[in-house]
Amino acid sequence: MTQSADTLIYAPWIIPVVPQNEVYRDHAIAIRAGKILDILPAQQAELAFDFDTAIRLNDHILIPGLINTHTHSAMTLFRGMADDLPLMEWLSEHIWPAEKRWVSEEFVRDGARHAIAEMLLSGTTCFNDMYFFPDQVGQAAIESGIRAVLGLIIIDVATAWARDAHEYFVKGERVHDEFRNHPLISTCFAPHAPYTVGDQALARIATLAEEMDIPITIHLHETAQEIDESFAKTGERPIQRLKRLGLLTPRLLAVHMTQLQDREFDELVRYGAHVVHCPESNMKLASGACPVARLDELGINVALGTDGAASNNDLDMFSEMRSAALLAKLSSGDNTAIAAHRALEMATVNGARALGLDDDIGSLQAGKAADIVSIDLRTPALQPVHDPVSQVVYCASGRDVSNVWVAGEPVVANGKLTTLDTQAILRQSASWATRISTG
Ligand SMILES: [Zn+2]
Repeated sequence: MTQSADTLIYAPWIIPVVPQNEVYRDHAIAIRAGKILDILPAQQAELAFDFDTAIRLNDHILIPGLINTHTHSAMTLFRGMADDLPLMEWLSEHIWPAEKRWVSEEFVRDGARHAIAEMLLSGTTCFNDMYFFPDQVGQAAIESGIRAVLGLIIIDVATAWARDAHEYFVKGERVHDEFRNHPLISTCFAPHAPYTVGDQALARIATLAEEMDIPITIHLHETAQEIDESFAKTGERPIQRLKRLGLLTPRLLAVHMTQLQDREFDELVRYGAHVVHCPESNMKLASGACPVARLDELGINVALGTDGAASNNDLDMFSEMRSAALLAKLSSGDNTAIAAHRALEMATVNGARALGLDDDIGSLQAGKAADIVSIDLRTPALQPVHDPVSQVVYCASGRDVSNVWVAGEPVVANGKLTTLDTQAILRQSASWATRISTG
């Protein structure tokens, strides 16, 4: 008996990510109502399903949609504005003044739309954002068809988004309510960092995150200076302070974590917190190297993020995977650390797990959403193919992505966005660059 499917997508190689280290040869993915029905040998699929559309992608690899577990989408408009500086100088002398001058509803909407265009075109189907005006990020995401986790930012600084802690919380909860029923949008508390959020607000976040059942993302242990200053001010290392305030739980996504002591590894294991590794941002700002190989060995869930375009400077999760694999080997002195398939897990299922979305996304499996990316191998840099996983992690870039589906909807077709007007976005961003440079 045949089953009905909306679409069959065939490719010579499909990397499902789960099960681990598996590659399906000459298979097809059957999709119905935005979900994966089955993945089976191509010939069987054609017999088993009545389908509306069949897409044959010869010379392609299919992977799950990539998950950018930490970014600041609107900062694309600050790309390349202040490079080659240490973190605190970069933040306090360049980024924060520029944000004070420019961040508005319009800035965030245009910057997020630009970032989403870049992310979709390079195979990212879900991103975890931290920025002001998360409602605007949410609108841009809905317009584009990407999946998004909107960071409800909390910071002890008055901005165009909110004047004080009270207003940050009120507006954050309003954003949570506004988007709570959208199938592609969820929210996450996003306290900026231990050095910019006080004890009272952090403790309140711990309580509310539990009540609202959402994760918490925070920049943590990014630099040695952060640890020294925290110790001088409070007598505690930042992670100890978070533990005391009730934030060290499986809800926590600790972003960066370049500075860790032995007992802190044990605590991450004991409390089940997740680490989000941003290797390119850490290298560019010379913040240090997150000890990913050791975290991974201990079974701590490590996801990957690009961070914002002002400290990377792109949002390409392919280069982030490669950087994560290479930096892990260099910094651990172990050339077997973070093998290619592990790097791909970090960019997919580990991100989903950290965000509490792993029932729906992160791997190509029956019952999960059809968030799928195809990589076109018809280019010298991607030939010949001995090992498709190696090709994806060590050779491919976002520019090799040809098609992207989110919940079964084609959002990139033959390298072009189907939902957003790329040329209009580029014109808008160029006009922002002119405004910003002329002050
Ligand atoms: Zn960041």
